[in-house]
Amino acid sequence: MTAHPLFDISGRTALVTGSSRGIGLALARGLAEAGCTVVLNGRNARRLAEAAGELLGDVHTAVFDVTDGPSVAAGIADVEERVGPLDILVNNAGMQLRAPLLEFGDADWHRILDTNLTSAFLVGREAARRMTERGHGKIVNICSLQSEVVRPGIAPYAATKGALKMLTKGMCADWGPSGVQVNGLGPGYIETELTRPLVEDAEFSAWVRRRTPAGRWGRTEDLVGGVLFLASPAADFVSGQVLYVDGGMTSVL
Ligand code: NDP
Repeated sequence: MTAHPLFDISGRTALVTGSSRGIGLALARGLAEAGCTVVLNGRNARRLAEAAGELLGDVHTAVFDVTDGPSVAAGIADVEERVGPLDILVNNAGMQLRAPLLEFGDADWHRILDTNLTSAFLVGREAARRMTERGHGKIVNICSLQSEVVRPGIAPYAATKGALKMLTKGMCADWGPSGVQVNGLGPGYIETELTRPLVEDAEFSAWVRRRTPAGRWGRTEDLVGGVLFLASPAADFVSGQVLYVDGGMTSVL
């Protein structure tokens, strides 16, 4: 049996920001396996080359810092020239800083805001300039369970991810009339380098398993299906939504 044609994204070109490891790399692998030409992004050329070496298919790399406007503009222009017009953008690059708000410094506040929120604006705007002109495109912003709920010690992170949810809706409003669909994907607790301190904390790790209806931590591969759907023609009338892939955690107290 073959897959339904509505889910066929082979031949599309996709850029995944922050794909030298973790969730971004898994999403890039999924897109490559679905037949996309894939562009990996990160700040370190050697790490990116190693990541690209793990993937099969037509895989390229683009080294730029997603928080720096001029680098983003040059990076997107270079990708389109070298690889081709972007059909799909996944704004995935992000970071976590855990500290009580009273101890959270100004520099860290700006750093987390730049990395998790401003980056999606900068990369999204550069990609959408071109997508809206061509009349089609799919953008997926990687939000979070913490776009909806927060725990002590991660208020700045939750603030960036809550704002990213609203930016997703705003991008949908601005670019939808030009044929660009913008959605969010909200992972629950997923085992990666970003969550390593939590995974290694036996008590917290057990709490995650207890609180998640699926009874386990998420794996990076758990997120692939959602992104493939949001990037496909099957989602042509889906825009401004956040799809939570969290084993059910956002739905329960
Ligand atoms: P990781 O820390 O494992 O990976 C982060 C990636 O982002 C790396 O590839 C890193 O590349 C890249 N990156 C960071 N800053 C920049 C920058 N300024 N410019 C370009 N690339 C950058 O994180 P995860 O894979 O866990 O997280 C990915 C996304 O998923 C993030 O947005 C995160 O907030 C979100 N998320 C994660 C959850 C989880 O449980 N893990 C839950 C919910 C959301 P390099 O350092 O090589 O530049």
